[in-house]
Amino acid sequence: MSYAWKNEPHMPSYLHSLEAHRLSYLKAIVENHSRPFNLSPGTTLENLIELDLWPCTRCMSDGKIFDPADYDIIEGNKLARHIACPLCGGRGHISKELFQKIHDKAIRPYRRTIKKHIEIALEVEKILEKLTEEEIKILEKWYGYVEPSRR
Ligand SMILES: [Zn+2]
Repeated sequence: MSYAWKNEPHMPSYLHSLEAHRLSYLKAIVENHSRPFNLSPGTTLENLIELDLWPCTRCMSDGKIFDPADYDIIEGNKLARHIACPLCGGRGHISKELFQKIHDKAIRPYRRTIKKHIEIALEVEKILEKLTEEEIKILEKWYGYVEPSRR
């Protein structure tokens, strides 16, 4: 008998694949009307997808960021000067390898959570196998999350 939990942890959909992660960045860049990769205004998402560029995750492909050294405790970044983005060197895009690295780092905590969840679910499954259908039904009524996946 196999069981599944209702509150199974999920990864955000934009992190499911490398391409989905890239697309979510490209979409945000186009929607925020920033000047991605120093391209002409009116550049569409389709144009960017065709170019196969990997957006910089630090500067949102703007090529520049607020100087962290110029951060003001009251004004924040309002009056801070701009500096070239240290991650992409002001180019607005990064290599696929670097993007892959950032992606791997972003999904690591979700992978850990899901792995932990599976470990516990397997332990619970072992315990449930020792119970009768009647006992499982009572637990289901009380906790709500014990749900045989074959039903
Ligand atoms: Zn950058």
